[in-house]
Amino acid sequence: MTARPIRDPAPALIAGLKAIVGPNGWIADPADQERYLVDERRLFRGRTPLVVRPGTTDEVSRVVALCAAHDAAIVPQGGNTGLVGGGVPYESGDQIVLSLARMNRIRSVSALDYAMTVDAGCILVDIQEAARRVDRLFPLSLAAEGTCTIGGNLSTNAGGVNVLRYGSARDLVLGLEVVLADGRIWNGLRGLRKDNTGYDLKHVFMGAEGTLGIITGAVLKLFPLPRQVRTGFVGVPSVRAAVDLLSRLQGATGGRITAFEVLPRFGLDLVLTHIEGTKDPLPAAHPWYVLFDASSGDDGEALTTSLESALAAALDAGLVVDATLAVSEAQARALWRIRETLPEAQKPAGGSIKHDVSVPITRFAELIERAQAAVLATVPGVRPLPFGHLGDGNVHLNFSQPLGGDTAAFMAEWERVNHLVHDIVHELGGSISAEHGLGRLKREEIRRYKPPLELELMRTLKTALDPKGLLNPGKVL
Ligand SMILES: Cc1cc2nc3c(=O)[nH]c(=O)nc-3n(C[C@H](O)[C@H](O)[C@H](O)COP(=O)(O)OP(=O)(O)OC[C@H]3O[C@@H](n4cnc5c(N)ncnc54)[C@H](O)[C@@H]3O)c2cc1C
Repeated sequence: MTARPIRDPAPALIAGLKAIVGPNGWIADPADQERYLVDERRLFRGRTPLVVRPGTTDEVSRVVALCAAHDAAIVPQGGNTGLVGGGVPYESGDQIVLSLARMNRIRSVSALDYAMTVDAGCILVDIQEAARRVDRLFPLSLAAEGTCTIGGNLSTNAGGVNVLRYGSARDLVLGLEVVLADGRIWNGLRGLRKDNTGYDLKHVFMGAEGTLGIITGAVLKLFPLPRQVRTGFVGVPSVRAAVDLLSRLQGATGGRITAFEVLPRFGLDLVLTHIEGTKDPLPAAHPWYVLFDASSGDDGEALTTSLESALAAALDAGLVVDATLAVSEAQARALWRIRETLPEAQKPAGGSIKHDVSVPITRFAELIERAQAAVLATVPGVRPLPFGHLGDGNVHLNFSQPLGGDTAAFMAEWERVNHLVHDIVHELGGSISAEHGLGRLKREEIRRYKPPLELELMRTLKTALDPKGLLNPGKVL
């Protein structure tokens, strides 16, 4: 797709957009626009003539149609918690930011259908709570859930901690409502469990990061609310032992492990040092830790017995060194707080070169061993901090700068270290973006690894659905 020339937006466009969304629906003052212009990791800072905040699908449709008539580019934005720079405009200053934040209505909840229909701007935690109120579970869960929106979750096909049992965001959707690049509204809010009437169009828009259409509503799948969730924190000698442990626990509990996270001692040390009120759950230090949830539909007694005997057998087999099962919700929350605050705790350790990668679980340990060795050989003193969703083969393979080193010099190694790690991931049959998407950050990097035919098919879709290239240009492709 050829780049469009940068030009000032027509005054008629700006006036028209303001008229569509009304006086409370737009922001033109650059100072007030700030939080829409900078991404979560502060890697990108853009400019825009106008942030529009429509309140209904009809307003979104009219905004998009007017932009199309003026050949103006649109950057859709939800909670702006994305980690690849997909939700913020370019520096060119001619892209309209379309925030879905005002569209935050839960349209309907049906406990009997195990389904809920929501506006795209609903905050994830509000959706989880609405489900709980009718004794149901909406299982998508991630550390940004108090800020991110369901529209952003679906557009990035977000993962989080429960993918192991319930799948990624796209697996939790029955129907979508989407505003297309020309402003027309596709109402696919059917909510059917079975519908084989041709191509499953909703999946085209999920994971598209706003480049193919604007998601304005969704029918979400709900699940029975577990009666008991047992949370465990386990010291293990190695990542290989953690991988074996997952298989044993799944076998022993009949597949009731719903989350299975791994972190190294260095990560726990950072949390204990920098996050107030945290304490080491186990008396001695161990090289690696597993944090898991197991869920049950009854009082959990049978589940607890299975977990305890599986952990005891794993201890005998040398796969586990020590373990604790939370005995109260407060204890479980304290264990999860360690995992959830880890990204925050890493910040005081200085510069961090990050990767969000996945491999088949059988290659998980090999990936970590090889990537750590390769990066240590290239950047001596670097401090590896691989953590994350072992249950899905997804690890956030982060590297903190050497102690006392120069942050700028370390961060200048970003691309070289990315290539080292991503080449190994690719060799092991993995993905260089497991759950965060491509956005702007990995748009070029993906070209090293994705087969040309796949890229060609993606471009074919883009051209068919957004022929003028106005939806989130310069992201993904
Ligand atoms: C502390 C923290 C922890 C995180 N943990 C996880 C994790 O465990 N798993 C995970 O997958 N991600 C994680 N993330 C990343 C992020 O939260 C997710 O990508 C989230 O799904 C983004 O939602 P959002 O509403 O903030 O979207 P935004 O950041 O606003 O947008 C993300 C992308 O979607 C597009 N978009 C947004 N809304 C729409 C819409 N309605 N229609 C079309 N396109 C749209 C944007 O243009 C952009 O390309 C984490 C982020 C933080 C800060």
